Amino acid sequence: MAIKPYHYELPLDFNQPSNRKAMESALREVKEQFGLSYPLLIGSERVDTEKKITSTNPAHPDQVVGFVSKAEASHIDQAIKEAWRAFDSWKKVPAADRARYLYKAAAIMRRKKLFLAAVEVYEAGKTWAEAEGDVNEAIDFMEYYGRQMERLGAPVPLTPLDDEDDQAFYVPIGVGAIIPPWNFPLAILTGMTTSAIVAGNCVILKPASATPVIAAHFVEIMHEAGLPYGVLNFVPGDGGTIGDYIVTHPLIRFISFTGSREVGLRINQLAAQVAPGQKWIKRVVAEMGGKDAIVVDETADLDKAAQDIVTSAFGFQGQKCSACSRAIIVDEVHDVLLKKIVERTKKLVVGDPDNFNSQMGPVIDPKAFEKVHSYIQWGKEHAHLETGGGTMDRDGYFIPPTIFSDVKPGSKLEQEEVFGPVLAVIRARNLLFQPLQRVHIQVVIGLIEQPNIRAGQNNLQQC
Ligand code: NAP
Repeated sequence: MAIKPYHYELPLDFNQPSNRKAMESALREVKEQFGLSYPLLIGSERVDTEKKITSTNPAHPDQVVGFVSKAEASHIDQAIKEAWRAFDSWKKVPAADRARYLYKAAAIMRRKKLFLAAVEVYEAGKTWAEAEGDVNEAIDFMEYYGRQMERLGAPVPLTPLDDEDDQAFYVPIGVGAIIPPWNFPLAILTGMTTSAIVAGNCVILKPASATPVIAAHFVEIMHEAGLPYGVLNFVPGDGGTIGDYIVTHPLIRFISFTGSREVGLRINQLAAQVAPGQKWIKRVVAEMGGKDAIVVDETADLDKAAQDIVTSAFGFQGQKCSACSRAIIVDEVHDVLLKKIVERTKKLVVGDPDNFNSQMGPVIDPKAFEKVHSYIQWGKEHAHLETGGGTMDRDGYFIPPTIFSDVKPGSKLEQEEVFGPVLAVIRARNLLFQPLQRVHIQVVIGLIEQPNIRAGQNNLQQC
């Protein structure tokens, strides 16, 4: 049967009164559920533990979005055992049938889109558009990976040989650990989890501790879609405490991680050591931090460049691996473009993300708040503050959008990932790309293709 064409999910227009009302009603619904408890899921058993993760609203840290059970080593052992038990039958389910579970879950997510977006508003501090964009991306992942699996499930073409009957096909490898970040708390988690599952593997999912409630909703949706129990096991817990146990477990065959460079490198190193009783070499997929740049020269449309830089730098408070963390601007247009960027930034509305008018909310937690402020302090001492840089007299982890100019190539602010609403502006003599020689890990360069710059567009959907 032909594979259905893939279409990505279109964003809702919240300027439409009906959409706005629907979102307001979803926010009320989520608020009524504040303080509920969410258990672990091990096989088909829901386990309520005594120790809980308390998930709070970064805009109002005294509001508890939910209490989520915390897994200990014994729960991890049990979850891995259940996953291997489920693997025996799941690996035999035809690829197209596995894909159907993803399509069903995508359909359920589509129906619950605003509810899920509202959970993200309260749990992650995302504005309406950012939250809805994240749910759309989760749906996209399932629609896309389902189709990829249908394609990969077909026999691999081989050169026929007269005296041989050869076949080639892909097989799942077993049980893996999924360790996602909090910044795209549904999209990245869904992508990482369902890609492993649709390929025929079984998993244990340890969500980020800042956003375990949206993760619990994801797990419910997968089972509402009929996913057999044991294929997906839910074991939240503090990464620093149970992370090593999961990663070094002899029965974990692969680790799929997205998060910081520091943790990713640690996982990669630990996973390379073979534990007693381990049969295979573990496989690691580690997507890590970024320090992305938009480069602008004199051929660019400067109004568009300014708009895209502001959207990219300050969308979701700059907490994206793809955020424009530095703008590298050619001398000839530096001053005029900087002025446009600063003017636009000063107009951004920072406020409670459950308010439709807010364009920026809080950063995720006190640790992020402190870390971003330490970079701001450094910037005040070593660069020129154009706007922001202060504190906001309100509850929650709010930081005003901050811009530094005169940031020197090779300096701390130009090199390190801030992961917050801080933009470093660097003056470049010309486009010989010297400042980019040090770019590491992941770069989005606003390559100039006359007359527009390219990066920074479609930023809502970037991770
Ligand atoms: P993080 O602190 O590295 O945490 C990521 C995940 O790892 C969380 O689930 C965390 O659990 C877990 N973890 C922490 N310590 C661990 C350990 N020792 N062993 C195993 N797991 C452990 O990163 P984050 O703050 O959530 O996310 C922000 C980072 O992710 C940024 O650097 C950003 O650039 C990067 N990111 C990259 C991409 C990409 O596609 N390349 C996409 C999104 C984000 P706890 O929450 O319980 O600590």
